[in-house]
Amino acid sequence: MRRGARSEKTAVLFVFLLILSCSVKAEQQTPDAAKTLVWVTPSGKKYHKENCPTLKNSGSTVKSISLEDALQRGLEPCSVCNPPVYTGGADLYRLNNPPLRSARDAQLSRMIPARVTEVVDGDTIKVRIPNPHPIQLKTDETIRFLGIDAPETSTSPRPAGYYGEEAKTYVAKLLGGKDILLAFDWDLRDKYGRLLAYIYLQDGKCVNLMLVEQGYAFAYVHFPFQFMDEFTQAQAAAKKQRWGLWSR
Ligand SMILES: [Zn+2]
Repeated sequence: MRRGARSEKTAVLFVFLLILSCSVKAEQQTPDAAKTLVWVTPSGKKYHKENCPTLKNSGSTVKSISLEDALQRGLEPCSVCNPPVYTGGADLYRLNNPPLRSARDAQLSRMIPARVTEVVDGDTIKVRIPNPHPIQLKTDETIRFLGIDAPETSTSPRPAGYYGEEAKTYVAKLLGGKDILLAFDWDLRDKYGRLLAYIYLQDGKCVNLMLVEQGYAFAYVHFPFQFMDEFTQAQAAAKKQRWGLWSR
């Protein structure tokens, strides 16, 4: 009897500690951006922890600001000291968390609405976000489609690729001036500051996947993304059918 009572007590304590550690973890993943302090220099493009070695020679110009201010100024986390990162919490719908198996399973109600203002090429658009929330987003954003690579067009800096103009024309017809929905994955931006997003139509179709399925773009597997397998399979099917850029 005594043994049972003791193990029950231990179990209760264990569960309590588990809940405590989970809630601490959740807090670490999504710090309160208004209350969390980070350190910056007047001209730096990054924000830091207080003791970051890269700040050593900046002396009295180093100032602390809130993480929210740092993000609104467009500063990026330093890769040397790994300061806190605001993930957007539940406001930013990331399809890798919890991981979805198919792009078709995404929840439209959790996505961020945007209107397409310009189609740059077959995998890049400009949008206006009427309610740019959470704070990492801006009203006007350039978006690079996640997981795909369309051939270059004649106006792009790189040489035009076969089917590049066709891809741009198709995307312009599909998305020009339209209201779309945005969902995200591991990385929010690329090194050029463009948002990395999955583009959804109001009817729930994932444009990124559609473009691969119809042969307007390649599956871009140099960086990991949640639907790598699905996009690779879609590409294999398009290639087999000789659709679009596979027709040559
Ligand atoms: Zn640093």
